Amino acid sequence: MINEILPDQLDLTHKTNILPQPDDFTLLYSNHKVLLKKDKDTFIIPTLKDISSIAKNIDSKFIGTLNGKNYFQFSGNGQVFPEEEYSFFDIFYVRNNFDKPLRWLVAIGYQLYTWHMENTYCGKCGNLLAKKADERALECNRCLNTVYPKISPVIIVAIIKDNEILLARGTNPRFQFYSLIAGFVEIGETLEEAVVREVKEEVGVDVKNIRYYKSQPWPFSSTLMVGFFAEYTGNTEITIDNKEIADAQWFAKDTLPSMPNTDAIGGEMIRVFADS
Ligand SMILES: [Zn+2]
Repeated sequence: MINEILPDQLDLTHKTNILPQPDDFTLLYSNHKVLLKKDKDTFIIPTLKDISSIAKNIDSKFIGTLNGKNYFQFSGNGQVFPEEEYSFFDIFYVRNNFDKPLRWLVAIGYQLYTWHMENTYCGKCGNLLAKKADERALECNRCLNTVYPKISPVIIVAIIKDNEILLARGTNPRFQFYSLIAGFVEIGETLEEAVVREVKEEVGVDVKNIRYYKSQPWPFSSTLMVGFFAEYTGNTEITIDNKEIADAQWFAKDTLPSMPNTDAIGGEMIRVFADS
């Protein structure tokens, strides 16, 4: 999975009042893109020294250290960079082309950037929010509102019937692969209740023996994926919710549909089933 980067060492401990130094790495985001510097035939993450002459007065946020090197997040809206040396690349370019530790770090920086962009002002009183000194949070100096990073829990479930697994294909034409059932946890709901409800809503079947597998932070959408295996009760047939699901079927291990080589938890869970 994208977040499993050992033996590389990532430390995301929040540090207060740490300022970027010339050799520290800078992840400068603009919408869904990050600034990279041309280096021979490839692109790399620039240092503060690289961008200091062209990126003045940009507020920085400490992300963490990767193998002892500091990484900072910057916001690059409205900044202009020399095209021959620098380009903004889509986050998914990085996900597809960088080594896993850097892919993961760029994703985490993107979530921090998104959180800051969406929380410039206090939602209670409209005052400007400020970085909280002692923890990774924002605070309003007027009404004392504290805003923590948004992390939405999403359950993802592998439903097993004897030697078959239930996979579904969504209605979104951009994602035409079969995958596991997944959905946001509702207010007032346990993770297990969310599993039962989402499965019933999307494919109409009942499940039992819900077992936790593992979790995976997914910074691209500010979510925390929580994986479960569950057994089909045999009580109900597949009835798909046509709004979200285009097709759902039981697949045996030797008839699994083709799937992208993904670094997400769903792909790993399908491989665990296939190897069981
Ligand atoms: Zn306020």
